[in-house]
Amino acid sequence: MSEEKKLVEYMEKYTDEFLDILKEAVNLESPTEGNKEDLKRCRHYFERIFSEIGFKCNVVPSNDSRYGDHLLMELGEGDEQVLFVGHYDTVYEKGLFRNIWNQEGSKIWGPGVFDMKGGDVQVYMVTKALKDLDLLPENKKIVFFLSSDEEAGSPTSHMHYKELAKKSKASFVMEPTFGGYSNGLTIGRLCRGNYTFVAAGKPAHSGQEPEKADSGLKELAQQAIYLESLTDLEKGMTIACTCLNSGKAGWPTVPGGGELTIDARFSSAEQAKQYDSMFQNLKAFNPAVKITTKGGIEKPLFDEKDPKHNALYESSKKVGKMFDMEMKGHIGRAGTDGNFTAAVGCPTLDGMGMTGDFAHQPDKEYINTDDIAVRGAFVARMVLEVLRNE
Ligand SMILES: [Zn+2]
Repeated sequence: MSEEKKLVEYMEKYTDEFLDILKEAVNLESPTEGNKEDLKRCRHYFERIFSEIGFKCNVVPSNDSRYGDHLLMELGEGDEQVLFVGHYDTVYEKGLFRNIWNQEGSKIWGPGVFDMKGGDVQVYMVTKALKDLDLLPENKKIVFFLSSDEEAGSPTSHMHYKELAKKSKASFVMEPTFGGYSNGLTIGRLCRGNYTFVAAGKPAHSGQEPEKADSGLKELAQQAIYLESLTDLEKGMTIACTCLNSGKAGWPTVPGGGELTIDARFSSAEQAKQYDSMFQNLKAFNPAVKITTKGGIEKPLFDEKDPKHNALYESSKKVGKMFDMEMKGHIGRAGTDGNFTAAVGCPTLDGMGMTGDFAHQPDKEYINTDDIAVRGAFVARMVLEVLRNE
């Protein structure tokens, strides 16, 4: 029997085990900035199941009281390795889903079932299959970095898996598949910048002499409209205002100060550089209002045109065909850990995880159980593809 067939059969045989493990992981709710004990319980659970199949597990402290700690898990010895990247935090506060695990036919709803505890459990199942079927190449390593702060932008984890990525032949990011397509992969992601503009003008009495104010509120309102107007969808660039804060409701004062925050996405490094320098020196409409900029580029570009990522995408198409799948790469607008592994030069494929939909939407986020076996077998075969090619 071919390897591919063996892998699919294995995954089909163990789909119930996959779902039992996933159910327990989903039940251990783990909001990014949630209760420390909850986060620890979820982390311990992953630590336990991965140790059971032979991974050496090390806790990597986040050193930030808002987040749980991360896990670095390694299997095998040798200089060559494949890196899996995942996160066990979810965007949901505890109790946000009416039913924490709800199954109907081939759909299962639950907090983080799709984004991305399903992908984390896939790493477990993929490794277990390769071990049990005796397919793991000798003197090669599988490394899994499981972080606790991805939904917050990976502030305390990215430095760790970036170092791992530099030493890896490929990074597989187990985030949900693009658009939930069973042949979907994410082969690039936009660069993200986050900027806050702080205005300092001159306040004045809003009845007595409003004309004497250098209004921070007016300045930032003008900036908000101007900055959003720079959005150019054809060039793959968006600017969206996410917070505007100025003045006090009901208070008879035109405020001199205020803050405006924008979320900017760029599709090329040159674009990011050009706009970053403009934002760092944003010109005020009213020269009497001083604007200072906080923030900058938060997630580097995952550039789909880079030949390193492209070569990995090409091999994924070849492997997909072994499972009758025409793999299709998409560009993700949202950022993930893949932005970081790609930017340090490690060939990266993202969106390797579950099929389903509605990430970040309470009671709606679900996975599709029909694709568990084939997607698992595909990922397992990709591990072999990378580790076998010299
Ligand atoms: Zn995610």
